[in-house]
Amino acid sequence: MPWVNMLSEPQELRRCIRDLVALSTLPAIWKDYDTRQIADSAAAALLSMLNADVIYVTVPGLRDEAAADVMRTSQAVPVGSSGHIERILRGASRGRHQQISAIDNPLGKGTLRIVAAPMGFGGDAGIVAGSVNPQFPSETDRLLLGIAANHATLAIERRHAEAEQRRLTTVIERSSEFIGFADLEGTPQYLNSAAYELLGLSGIEEVQRLSIFDFMAPYERTRALHEALPMVMRTGRWLGELHLRHFRTGEIIPFLVDWFRIDDKRTGCPTNMATVSRDLRPQKKLEGDLRRLNGSLEQRVTERTSELAEALERLTIEAEERARADARAQKLQAELHHASRLSAAGQMAGALAHELNQPLTALTNLVNAGRRMMANAPYRVDPVRDVLGEAAEQALRAGEIIRRLREFVARGGTDMRIENLPDLIREASHLASAGAGPNGVKVRLSFDPRAKAVFANRIQLQQVMLNLIRNAHEAMGQSEWRELEVVTARLDDESIEIAVADRGSGLPDDIVEHLFEPFRTTKVNGMGLGLSISRSIVETHRGKLGYEPNCGGGAIFRVTLPVPPE
Ligand code: ADP
Repeated sequence: MPWVNMLSEPQELRRCIRDLVALSTLPAIWKDYDTRQIADSAAAALLSMLNADVIYVTVPGLRDEAAADVMRTSQAVPVGSSGHIERILRGASRGRHQQISAIDNPLGKGTLRIVAAPMGFGGDAGIVAGSVNPQFPSETDRLLLGIAANHATLAIERRHAEAEQRRLTTVIERSSEFIGFADLEGTPQYLNSAAYELLGLSGIEEVQRLSIFDFMAPYERTRALHEALPMVMRTGRWLGELHLRHFRTGEIIPFLVDWFRIDDKRTGCPTNMATVSRDLRPQKKLEGDLRRLNGSLEQRVTERTSELAEALERLTIEAEERARADARAQKLQAELHHASRLSAAGQMAGALAHELNQPLTALTNLVNAGRRMMANAPYRVDPVRDVLGEAAEQALRAGEIIRRLREFVARGGTDMRIENLPDLIREASHLASAGAGPNGVKVRLSFDPRAKAVFANRIQLQQVMLNLIRNAHEAMGQSEWRELEVVTARLDDESIEIAVADRGSGLPDDIVEHLFEPFRTTKVNGMGLGLSISRSIVETHRGKLGYEPNCGGGAIFRVTLPVPPE
């Protein structure tokens, strides 16, 4: 073995031992160095130990540290050429670990012999040494290069491991969860700050005198010892709620405890147990608040519901009362209509008796005349037959007057239907002509063929017409020119009109002002109800009743009604 042979030379052996000792002291020096400083220190040490002109160290960036490329050169290397050499060595380091290679000397004549030692980070990481010395590298050089590369690798790895540990410790210490671990007997070995705080513990000395079961509320210990711990040891984990106690105040604190086993990676045997536990007080408080809120909400809903039920009951009672009042009002209205018809009929009855007197007197006279004719026998049959025929006609007329009166007095329903307006007016006019009023009134009825139908209660609308026509008759008692006109007309698409015009006295201003108010009358035996009742009837038919003076004397009353649907 040539390397061992060389070491057999005392001088080389001494050099080798001296350099090995020097290398072994480096890790202690590198303790607080960063990666770049370690690489530079290794390069400087090797340059002085090896018979080399250039040492190049390259380490890739790891975690939060940048990559380090460091080069040290002997004084033989001219200033300004190091960049060029670095590029060559970087290329040479790739995949040529531990191989010796010779390239054209970039520094001058001859060749540059280079050798590389890898560092344990993979890729190009490693140390490259180069020299123009044709003996380079000796076995000692390669040995020292390899040891230096190992030391630097370990130092950099330790540095990263320490940084990692610092980070983890910071996370655990900053956590608000209770984190700790204990040995398998249950003696605590580590607690994070949150754990000390949550249980009111002072320091590790106090903690190490305790057992993890001392952390628990007394009534939890049996369960923890006989249930949770065996499960941790058997399955590796127990998760559940446990009550711990505060060492200073004695407060019982609910925790969600995640209790687990830590095993040795190599042997698989359990070495410790640990916990990450959460204080459940904030959550429980939130749940309590929520429950209370729910409770008060339910109560409010119940109260509100009963308030609403009461309001509903009140409303129902009110609605019933209103319905009863409406029914009473309707009944009163119906009675009023009936009464008004009766009163109108009552008024008419006197006049009617007078009117009936006419046909009856005529009838009596005619029958007497017939009897006289027949008493003077022999008599001629024809005149007697004529007289009797006329008598029969008068009897029929009287009967007709009575029939119409009966029909009018009969209580009218409220049912509405399409009625033939000309027929309705004709009937009313006939009935009115049979009542009070002067003789010799010229009645003219004029019907627009486009205003034939009306949607009405026949009896009620007839009552209106009867009132108007009768008033017109009565108003013409003193008139010389006695003419009554009833004219229908289609005004537009929506309304039709019935105008009742007379040539009577007309209306004095003081009457016009209060014309449609009840009990306004100028007649000795009048009641002053006809017009007011008529106007209400017309309005219930969604129509209007109005008055205007007739030019040249007299009055015109106009009834406007809606055109019935097709
Ligand atoms: P009444 O006929 O019982 O008096 P009305 O309400 O029908 O009640 O009429 C009220 C008053 O209006 C009448 O007393 C009369 O003075 C006046 N009047 C109604 N119609 C006419 C008319 N066509 N011409 C003149 N005056 C009228």
